[in-house]
Amino acid sequence: MAGKFAKLKVIPLGGLQEIGKNITAFEINDEIIVVDCGVAFPEDDMLGIDLVIPDFTYLTRNREKVKAVVLTHGHEDHIGALPYFLKELNVPIYGTKLTIGLIENKLKEHNILNKVNRICVKYGEYVKIGANFKVEFIATTHSIADSCALAITTPAGVVIHSGDFKIDYTPIQGPPIDLQRFAQLGKKGVLLFMCESTNVELKGFTMSERSVGVIFDEIFAESLNQRIMVATFSSNIHRIQQVINCAIKYKRKVAVIGRSMNNVVKTACELGYLNVPKKVFIDVSEIKNYTDDKIVIIMTGSQGETMSALSRIAQNDHKQVEIKPMDKVIISASPIPGNEKNVYRVINCLLKKGAEVVYEGLKDVHVSGHARQEEIKVLHALIKPKYFMPIHGEYKHLRAHANLAMELGMDKKNVFVLERGEVLEVGRDFGRISGSVPSGQVLVDGLGVGDVGNIVLRDRKHLSQDGLMIVVVSMDKAEGTLISGPDIISRGFVYVRESEYLISDAKSVVREALLSCEGTPISEWAYIKTMIKDTLKDFLWQKTKRSPMILPIIMEI
Ligand SMILES: [Zn+2]
Ligand SMILES: [Zn+2]
Repeated sequence: MAGKFAKLKVIPLGGLQEIGKNITAFEINDEIIVVDCGVAFPEDDMLGIDLVIPDFTYLTRNREKVKAVVLTHGHEDHIGALPYFLKELNVPIYGTKLTIGLIENKLKEHNILNKVNRICVKYGEYVKIGANFKVEFIATTHSIADSCALAITTPAGVVIHSGDFKIDYTPIQGPPIDLQRFAQLGKKGVLLFMCESTNVELKGFTMSERSVGVIFDEIFAESLNQRIMVATFSSNIHRIQQVINCAIKYKRKVAVIGRSMNNVVKTACELGYLNVPKKVFIDVSEIKNYTDDKIVIIMTGSQGETMSALSRIAQNDHKQVEIKPMDKVIISASPIPGNEKNVYRVINCLLKKGAEVVYEGLKDVHVSGHARQEEIKVLHALIKPKYFMPIHGEYKHLRAHANLAMELGMDKKNVFVLERGEVLEVGRDFGRISGSVPSGQVLVDGLGVGDVGNIVLRDRKHLSQDGLMIVVVSMDKAEGTLISGPDIISRGFVYVRESEYLISDAKSVVREALLSCEGTPISEWAYIKTMIKDTLKDFLWQKTKRSPMILPIIMEI
């Protein structure tokens, strides 16, 4: 169906009213394309969980409709869940060169590189997908190279998806954001604009990435005798380029440490996104051959992540680099909400060891990759959409962005703040929220796709708070009498040597209870287990006001 009656469904399966796991399905005339497929990072109460990925149920249920995944840029919150998705639904993926390059590293880790059809698209090009979609890749600027917005032409009209962006007129590499193209599309008529909301609450403009380079230069100039270390996001290739530029200017060698930093730098050099003359990079093992004033070390850990290079260096736990008094450490990032504590811990640790630490707040060693209010207004003004949906943010961001759109003159009934899983139906003369599809989160433990689920999480929480107690008894299969035990093994509950009395009292309590029900037939052993649990639980609660997980094991002899 085309024209007046064509109906496009836009279904965000993640990224709305939450941070991370951005993914949206676009469905029309029995065809679906998916834009982005990101991860979120686990909350504090998700013990032992490595990753959170979107719930793909709606897409797997409609697998014959799904034609492709289109990627806006290579950040984890946009591409991180792709391997898990592709294992369930192997469809072609489209993206710009660096984005595809970064994805290839992931597919290799998951052993599916050869199975996936990857198509590289350049800025300004478009691809036809199925019978209903034409997707154009529009140049934007962001904290990773090769980012795009998408113009998705469908029989119902044109949708513009901003991706993540800021308006940087002087990017370090690559073209500036293609405002002209947004304006042209706006003139022709845009049905729906979906725009990111990360910094919508902040007034004014985000500074150009180049402004950080100026500050780096100042710091390098005043640190002539010091060793310099810089921690930033591995994906922020333009930031890394600026560190390298300073290193070259001040005749320093550059060592890169950390697995993800090395991976990204390697990929970016191979694909031509980092410009580094020969002999600038040295291996970490060569640092000792140079004096401090000839070295810059680039690493991850700007978020205080426990296993990262910076964290380990701060705690003298890194094999190759040891922090020294007078080292200058630049943390070129701002803490993502939730990471503040970890970042401050690392800063404190470095300061105590005598290092000088430069972080956001002291100097402008970081700028955001996301547009502030005035930049967001520029896109709205150029695109002039009929309908608008704020994306990429928590509820408060989406709400603020909706208000901004209305201040700019949009009709309230044409602005849609959705929840994850809700379906927005749009066509030439209508826009409405028409229902919802299954959506949620899947918790991933390690490389496998297993939904760990609430029960496992509840157990882990229980174990981490109150510990574990295992009660082993041997019973006669035929007679139902106690042969030996109970033995009690405890972990994480009380330090056994200091609580011998408690444990031996616990044993006698269990023993008495068992003797009282001797002779119970084997079929009733579930009852015996429950009885052991309850008796012990009551006893321990009385004595310690704690409630460990209790696992009775009955050995039939
Ligand atoms: Zn993002
Ligand atoms: Zn991003």
